[in-house]
Amino acid sequence: MPELPEVETIRRDLTPLLVGRRITHVAIQPGGERLAITHSPWALEAALTGRRIEGLERHGKYLVARLDDGRAWVLHLRMTGSLVHVPTEAPAGRYERARVDLDDGTSLRFNDLRKFGTWHLVEDPADAMPHTGPDALGPAFTTAWLRAQLARRSVPVKSALLDQHIAAGVGNIYADEACFRARIDPRTPANTLGPRRVARLHDAVVAALEASLADRGSSFSDYRDGLGGEGMHHVRVRVFRRTDLPCYDCGTAIQRVRIAGRSTHYCPRCQKT
Ligand SMILES: [Zn+2]
Repeated sequence: MPELPEVETIRRDLTPLLVGRRITHVAIQPGGERLAITHSPWALEAALTGRRIEGLERHGKYLVARLDDGRAWVLHLRMTGSLVHVPTEAPAGRYERARVDLDDGTSLRFNDLRKFGTWHLVEDPADAMPHTGPDALGPAFTTAWLRAQLARRSVPVKSALLDQHIAAGVGNIYADEACFRARIDPRTPANTLGPRRVARLHDAVVAALEASLADRGSSFSDYRDGLGGEGMHHVRVRVFRRTDLPCYDCGTAIQRVRIAGRSTHYCPRCQKT
């Protein structure tokens, strides 16, 4: 699933291509109807057509296109969604669920193998993202915020990092990477971390996300950037999906456990409970 660095890479790629453009035609393809959450597919097509895109923002894993009628078109890629900018005449891909044609002869295609992606059209973007807290690279995600949130939870720290209310945009890859960078065993109960370890974890979350962003994200499976290319960070992760491979820091084999139903990777020597 695309996480914060991947969605932010898409946002940066698409911003100069979309902002200022007017939407001339929208087609949600047969099989893509579940995209439309707030409207029927045809009502959403009609509502988007003719609108000008005035800005492209991101919060956590959500993309927010600001429209000239004051509304926000909020997109979530979920498991396998991608957004790729192509010429209007480009043929539809096998998993294309929707196309949005623009007034400059280009087109935005929403591809989604698993069909879990969502589009909302709302007055207030917050209405499209319930249970979502501060963006993990935004100013409200502070050490003090993280400390207060972890203190209230006895779940493993890995589970807490996946909670979008605590750190919007962090998913399975960067939760594992952050725990490794902070030298914290991902099974550690969140409310047992002292202030210094929480501060280290906060900085590790930010560092893990920024390192990936610098590499244009990680392409472990379906992720593609806004131009259809792959990110580079999957070759630079330290623990994620490195089960049985040697830790770069100490040589110990990376272990895999399941936490909250998610595969979790850690170094049993570098990371402590
Ligand atoms: Zn190690």
